[in-house]
Amino acid sequence: MDLNILVLPGDGIGAEVTREAVKVLEHVAAKWKHCLAISEGLLGGIAIHRTGTPFPEETARLAADADATLMGAVGLPEFDNAPPEKRPEKGLLGIRQALGVYANLRPVRAYASQVESSPLKNHLVEGTDMIIVRELTGGIYYGTPRGITGSGAEERAVNTMTYTRPEIERVTRMAFHLARARRKKVTSVDKSNVLENSQLWRRVVVEIAKEFPDVQLDHLLVDNCAMQLVLNPKRFDIVLTENMFGDILSDEGAVLAGSIGMLPSASIGDRRPSGAWVGLYEPVHGSAPDIAGQNKANPLGAIGSVGAMLEYSFGLKEEASAVDAAIEAVLASGRLTADLRPSGAPATTEQVGSAVCAAIG
Ligand code: NAD
Repeated sequence: MDLNILVLPGDGIGAEVTREAVKVLEHVAAKWKHCLAISEGLLGGIAIHRTGTPFPEETARLAADADATLMGAVGLPEFDNAPPEKRPEKGLLGIRQALGVYANLRPVRAYASQVESSPLKNHLVEGTDMIIVRELTGGIYYGTPRGITGSGAEERAVNTMTYTRPEIERVTRMAFHLARARRKKVTSVDKSNVLENSQLWRRVVVEIAKEFPDVQLDHLLVDNCAMQLVLNPKRFDIVLTENMFGDILSDEGAVLAGSIGMLPSASIGDRRPSGAWVGLYEPVHGSAPDIAGQNKANPLGAIGSVGAMLEYSFGLKEEASAVDAAIEAVLASGRLTADLRPSGAPATTEQVGSAVCAAIG
């Protein structure tokens, strides 16, 4: 198969973890005889330095041409007080919008060897295996009107939470398709006791569910879901929710699994004429300026994102399973970066990447 991939290393540890992820991708392509073409582009702080903008046109063009994009992380402390247009994070929103990736998938899985590093009791977290499907391009982060007006006692801020029926339909269908390949259960999360927006959300989800009679659907209010995620995370298979709720719940999901450095994510859009799903793959973590350049970042989130890319964008399930199994084997072997608190000397970013390749065989 032709795998035409754009890599956007970004800032800080982004470059270090994507280097290892690309190493794993090259290893998989060689082993399964896929034809891999990799291009590299600029995004975030490095793009501001080189071109004056966090999301250069050249990057948009490269992303449009690629089958899938692998991203590291963006963000540099020197831009913390810069205006919004000149911030690295603007590049992130820019590429998500340009690619039209409307569903963010975050797998949350408790690896047997890592349950000790979860803040929850072992028996609660063991066996946790869910995907949080978050709507990514609608809702309150994008709705208008928005802004702050007036001054003094008249000062007022407004944001608008808005969803259209098609926006809800497409992300719901994606969640149900994913559920079909798993334990066939979707939990839709909303706040329909208070928000009209959520009432439409629930109504549309119920309608779309009829297209998937083999998949079970239940509903939770978002406050209850936040509680159930720590009380009984094993009850979840696919969690489907809107943008802001998903933003918050997926970070809660993140701590169930241990270090943030281990968590992959996939953002998926429509299907290309080539058959590949448009996809943007990135670890959940940021650029971690505190450990950047020290070869100690955990690359497993970025490597897991390669696994997600193989599965979701290219349908290469065997290769994706091999990457997941290799991650599990490396975790079990104790060859861990410092964030996972290994019993002996911590492994470097590079050593973990090589260990994953070796485990794939
Ligand atoms: P962060 O995820 O970069 O770091 C939080 C903590 O987790 C730090 O202590 C860091 O050392 C640790 N950590 C993160 N990834 C790790 C890894 N792979 N291995 C080991 N330890 C790891 O979050 P932050 O400090 O809030 O943000 C730093 C910068 O990253 C900011 O500029 C922020 O805007 C940006 N950011 C970008 C993204 C993204 O690109 N998707 C996401 C979150 C934050």
